[in-house]
Amino acid sequence: MADKIEFDTLALRAGIHRSQFGEHSEAMYLTSSFVFDNAAQAAARFTGGTEGNIYSRFTNPTVSAFQERLAALEGAETCVATASGMSAILAMAMAMLKAGDHVICSASVFGSTVQLFSNIMGKFGVETTFVAGASVAAWEGASRSNTKLLFVETPSNPLTEIADIAALAAVARQAGALLAVDNCFCTPALQQPLQLGADLVIHSATKYLDGQGRVLGGAVLGPRGPVMDGVYGFLRTAGPSLSPFNAWVLLKGLETLRIRMDAQSQAALQLAQWLERHPGIERVYYPGLPSHPQHELAQKQQRLGGAVVSFEVKGGREAAWRVVDATRMISITANLGDTKTTITHPATTTHGRISAEARKAAGISEGLLRVAVGLEALGDIQADVERGLN
Ligand SMILES: *Cc1c(COP(=O)(O)O)cnc(C)c1O
Repeated sequence: MADKIEFDTLALRAGIHRSQFGEHSEAMYLTSSFVFDNAAQAAARFTGGTEGNIYSRFTNPTVSAFQERLAALEGAETCVATASGMSAILAMAMAMLKAGDHVICSASVFGSTVQLFSNIMGKFGVETTFVAGASVAAWEGASRSNTKLLFVETPSNPLTEIADIAALAAVARQAGALLAVDNCFCTPALQQPLQLGADLVIHSATKYLDGQGRVLGGAVLGPRGPVMDGVYGFLRTAGPSLSPFNAWVLLKGLETLRIRMDAQSQAALQLAQWLERHPGIERVYYPGLPSHPQHELAQKQQRLGGAVVSFEVKGGREAAWRVVDATRMISITANLGDTKTTITHPATTTHGRISAEARKAAGISEGLLRVAVGLEALGDIQADVERGLN
């Protein structure tokens, strides 16, 4: 093949190692353990003297195929797949951090990520400072001599704030820390954080990598070396490993990732433009709109705006709930990253457990709705949203 294989080709072909049966589609290796030819081979595998599978908590060929393919798409040297997005963040944190270390994390990351850093890692003596993700100065100001990790999601959920990955990579370097980017919303089809200077990429494969709402999965990606060795070491010992069945589903998801992200982003942009003109809407948050405060940065950093559109309905919670309840087709669910369009009222669901002041500070108003645009006909999505706006 050519020297530089294109993204679309890698999405279909990377990570394929055919068995003796010559299967065309990737094989699914549903086996917990692997057999050895003899005692000496078993011993050599266990000492690491020879490569090969031992047990599926450590490695499994279907999981390895997924890791190889996702690494190719992110332009990463290594990928460690995990059982879920949260176990990817946990494995990364356990590999990198110890008591006395300090983390800087964007305040607008996934709710469970906030809990993981503040409650769970906090219990083991790791302190986390939460900052406004889009303000480079805030990250700089929070940096300390014991800062080891900067953690960010961009675009953020649900307000689609954009953090400057290249600028944060520079802040991390200055602090002697590593920058980890949760690339869940964009996926490598729209944004490749490692090429922008990030050290590590995190995925909840549950979302757009699967893309069809079927399985849980996660991944940590980065350069070969102590961190990734540590992530794999944690996984192998502690066990939040990706199931081979889920890995197989995710391999199939990656095959259509780019065309799904393109189609869903294009529909999201059109929905955002239409919402912006609608008299019942106060404000629309979408990185692809020129009215977005970081539109220029988004255009530089992402190939397209992504599939998530948030908007404030005039009339507060009552009006927002009316829009949700008037839908007949769109799924009312807190999940996203599906080919089926979903709608969420963040203030009473995903962000319902934080205090009213914290919600206000985060810009999550009572009238805010988040739509993760799928692949249905745009006219039908629009009609479904509009029913409750009139
Ligand atoms: C869903 C999500 C996670 C957690 O992933 P799970 O697979 O549910 O564990 C992490 N980060 C972001 C941005 C997410 O949307």
